[in-house]
Amino acid sequence: MLRKELGIFTMGDLLDHFPNRHIDKTKVSRIADIRPDTEYIQVAGILRNMQVIGDKRARRMVAVLQDESGLLELAWFQGISWVQKTLVEGQRYLVFGRTGFFNGKAQMVHPELEVYVPAKADGKAYLEPVYPATEKLKARGLNGRQLGKLTYQLLSQVKPDDLAENLPEDICRQLQLMNRYEAYSNIHFPVSPQAYQDALKRLKFEELFMSQIRLNLVRMERHQASRGVVFEKVGTLFNEFYAHHLPFELTGAQKRVIREIRTDTGKGHQMNRLLQGDVGSGKTMVALLSMLLAADNGYQSCMMAPTEILAQQHYAGLKDLLKDMPVEIALLTGSVKGAARKRILKGLLEDSIHFVVGTHAVIEDVVQFKNLGLVVVDEQHRFGVAQRARLWEKAAIPPHVLVMTATPIPRTLAMTAYGDLDYSVMDELPPGRQPITTVHRYEQARASVMDFVKTEISKGRQAYFIYPLIEESEKLSYEDLMQGYEQVKSFFPEPKYRISMVHGRQPAEQKDTNMQRFVQGDTQIMVSTTVIEVGVNVPNATVMVIESAEKFGLSQLHQLRGRVGRGTEKSFCILLTGSKASREARERIKIMCATNDGFKIAEKDLEIRGPGDIDGTRQSGALNFKVASIVNDKELLELARNLAEKRCEEDPTLDMAKNLQLKKYLRSQKRKNEWGKIS
Ligand code: ADP
Ligand code: MG
Repeated sequence: MLRKELGIFTMGDLLDHFPNRHIDKTKVSRIADIRPDTEYIQVAGILRNMQVIGDKRARRMVAVLQDESGLLELAWFQGISWVQKTLVEGQRYLVFGRTGFFNGKAQMVHPELEVYVPAKADGKAYLEPVYPATEKLKARGLNGRQLGKLTYQLLSQVKPDDLAENLPEDICRQLQLMNRYEAYSNIHFPVSPQAYQDALKRLKFEELFMSQIRLNLVRMERHQASRGVVFEKVGTLFNEFYAHHLPFELTGAQKRVIREIRTDTGKGHQMNRLLQGDVGSGKTMVALLSMLLAADNGYQSCMMAPTEILAQQHYAGLKDLLKDMPVEIALLTGSVKGAARKRILKGLLEDSIHFVVGTHAVIEDVVQFKNLGLVVVDEQHRFGVAQRARLWEKAAIPPHVLVMTATPIPRTLAMTAYGDLDYSVMDELPPGRQPITTVHRYEQARASVMDFVKTEISKGRQAYFIYPLIEESEKLSYEDLMQGYEQVKSFFPEPKYRISMVHGRQPAEQKDTNMQRFVQGDTQIMVSTTVIEVGVNVPNATVMVIESAEKFGLSQLHQLRGRVGRGTEKSFCILLTGSKASREARERIKIMCATNDGFKIAEKDLEIRGPGDIDGTRQSGALNFKVASIVNDKELLELARNLAEKRCEEDPTLDMAKNLQLKKYLRSQKRKNEWGKIS
């Protein structure tokens, strides 16, 4: 019978379907004690006056639950026929749910009910599991309670050996973890609240530790298995540039990361490095020095940017820095066509071009190199792990890959979603930067905001006005932008003021011209959608006004703000909103006004949105944790990370006696989990 009902599950599925809470049958409240601020409550009473009232959308089933202290109204808007069939008037029920007040009376909508059975009067807590309903379950007509019964039966048949320990004994001892069998029993049917907490901790740790072990093994395997081109020496190009053309002293963080890259690329395995640095931390220079290192060893480099504007800007910047150096650099984007394009493709094949900068779509598709040694992917953490792996596998010896991202990822997320990569952080800004002052203003204050912008422009500075781009309604945002443009024009009339506008609907050339005019200072104002979000560098721009700021996400706001504060002058970011903004939007704006630190912002973003929504991590299987949460279990994750790293370093094949049960477990999981690589 158990087998039959289990048809849709494996035993493991069932045991791994954890309850989201427990009810303690011994804790029954009195109806009279329900207060307006009561949230969830459990009461017991007799069901009376069941009736269906209202029609169409207001149709609902209502009933009254009566205990010795008072009455509680119950209501169902859905599943009315089920309620009619299942519940019996006059029966005593144990009722659990969230209470609300309606017309001054306590009410509970869609309560959970079961026939009341008095709890044993032995003073112990009896914690019964409540399982989240899943589609799979509903489709089979199984409810959470039946599931509880199945699980109970299953657990009573499972022997400790069926749930053999999979964590190394010394770690269990060190962290005082409950053993695996007990943990499974107690996560479902805890003998006490403390036992439940212990079970939870153990299972969370297990989940995090296993995922960290896998990531470490993948990373180590890549290091060992994948041959990489060797940059064995620092040569004349690097040294010449460093000694004579470097426009500034490198920051400590830049130096450290370059050392990391240098060590990594010299070892003969492929580097796959994620470089995180907040906006303005100077990642471009790190990329350039790495490219020079490649060139010193006879290899070509390519730098890929997500947008045409950014590719151009990188190209212009690098070309300028390299003007006195014997290095050929080319720009390759969708708008480079005809003979010019042919020449570049030929140059790359012949190795007469050493560096190519372009949009990645273009470079990925068609370009062939004579001997590509380094790929720099700029501002691009939107790549999934799998995508990255596919990127350059065509080459016999894959080039080194440096992925640079300016949207900081919280450490915990980086550890899990990108744990297979080598990872560098630039946590230092070049000296002399002044923090950007960020303020929130309501629409009503627009005139004074405009006055402020005028003052800045009169000092010779430049300003951005940014409008949101709402993907679902491109037309609408386009109209908003045009209206905004007219409005800005009315405050800043020509010819005294000159305005550039850039948006996604413009042909590439027009976009470029308008952008270039702003970059060169011909125009003082840039009106734009978020196309300027990434990378654009105009140090003379000191004000950014973000229109309808409530519509932007945190990391986007931070990216945008990073366009100012790039020079030595004090910069400002003004977040304009209407008076209506959601609580979350207000929270985002508050955070923006409070800090300039991208890593702090990323942490908050993760807290507000949860890991599933952070760009680029959605497809990542690494984040599908059952019990652990990278938001709430940071310390445990950190611990799991450290222990896993040590373990893999000490015993990369997991053949030491103390690691055998771990290895056995990982192998048994391998079939389920493709990305876990262990041989
Ligand atoms: P990001 O990390 O956002 O890509 P960039 O590489 O665009 O930052 O650098 C931002 C600005 O800081 C540029 O104008 C760059 O020339 C300048 N910069 C970079 N490194 C240093 C440094 N060590 N000292 C002073 N200025 C620097
Ligand atoms: Mg950059």
